Amino acid sequence: MSLAPGSVIGIIGGGQLGRMSALAAARLGYLVHVFSPEAGGPAAQVAARDTLAPYDDLAALRRFAEDVDVITFEFENLPAPSLELLERLRPVRPGAKILAISQDRVLEKTFLNEAGVATAPWAKVETLAELEAAVARLGLPAVLKTTRLGYDGKGQALLRTPDDLAPAFARLTPKPLILEGFVDFGAELSVIVARGVNGEVVSFDPVENRHKHHILDLTLAPAPYAPDILEQATALARRIAARLELVGLLGVEMFLRADGRVVVNEIAPRPHNSGHWTMDACPCGQFEMHIRAVAGLPLPPATRHADAVMKNLIGPDDMATWPQILATPGLIAHHYGKWEAREGRKMGHVNRLFPKGALPGEFGIEAALRLKGR
Ligand code: AMP
Repeated sequence: MSLAPGSVIGIIGGGQLGRMSALAAARLGYLVHVFSPEAGGPAAQVAARDTLAPYDDLAALRRFAEDVDVITFEFENLPAPSLELLERLRPVRPGAKILAISQDRVLEKTFLNEAGVATAPWAKVETLAELEAAVARLGLPAVLKTTRLGYDGKGQALLRTPDDLAPAFARLTPKPLILEGFVDFGAELSVIVARGVNGEVVSFDPVENRHKHHILDLTLAPAPYAPDILEQATALARRIAARLELVGLLGVEMFLRADGRVVVNEIAPRPHNSGHWTMDACPCGQFEMHIRAVAGLPLPPATRHADAVMKNLIGPDDMATWPQILATPGLIAHHYGKWEAREGRKMGHVNRLFPKGALPGEFGIEAALRLKGR
């Protein structure tokens, strides 16, 4: 059953992903109710209604659920009792099982490997002795990570020598941890995939992601690699969405190994930063696809009418260039409505489109993003 215009979509979380989802929902005639602990944040600014309360306020969550027709997320780390309450009251898309898997690196890798999806070799680590045993098996270098609440490279340590084990084990909390064998990757790729209530699956073309200081800096769409590599990436993402019985949207982050094989790093059951290029380069971008899946609408093919480069605007330095961005023809600017440009904070992004097949090479990308007057 699809939601009629005028229905209310509840979004848990108040950041930029919620903001851009809410804008897409409004375009399809829906009202959005945002639940967030932050007053006047990016999503609440553009939503019809908002609830300001902590994520463990069950009374506020109950009132929120009773006001909406369906519930989705832009923030996935909801406490379990809160999620259970919401699931009793309204359809929650994607559902609790998927959130649980994506929140815990051990559950996530177990699920992926059981689904026949390759990942880095890994081991769960509860004690220093277990870490030593895992390093003996997986070798060095290796990456030690918290199993929960890690993002943008936080909650992880690169182990290079045996001397790195004890300090990294002591520093990383909460336990248990996960040790991952180091993937010698040539590039980081991602695929955004959506699955509707009827089980239809659509996926955007695979893209390449480049990071700076552990934060996404650039996305190149499509990823400039051979067709068989892109086919591997697409097949993995679609298999994961089907196996999860996803209803909604999922970002799948992958490594392209030096030997040409693609392995999965992690999954995020929500719109993804590496899908922001779709807003301007696709007739139906990731936020509309997300809303369509959640609202039970048909999913159009995730086609692209242009190649694109997306650049994130991070912190005060990038935001200092905002006036020049606006003055530079060809840059499509997106501001997230955050008023304080802290170091490392995602403030907005710009997209630049190219005719299909005309994505520039290395030097061209820099030139394409050069600002007027610089
Ligand atoms: P994550 O928090 O898992 O997304 O990791 C953040 C970044 O650390 C990734 O984007 C990679 O650049 C790097 N990284 C994470 N896991 C590994 C690994 N097993 N091998 C090599 N690099 C990794």
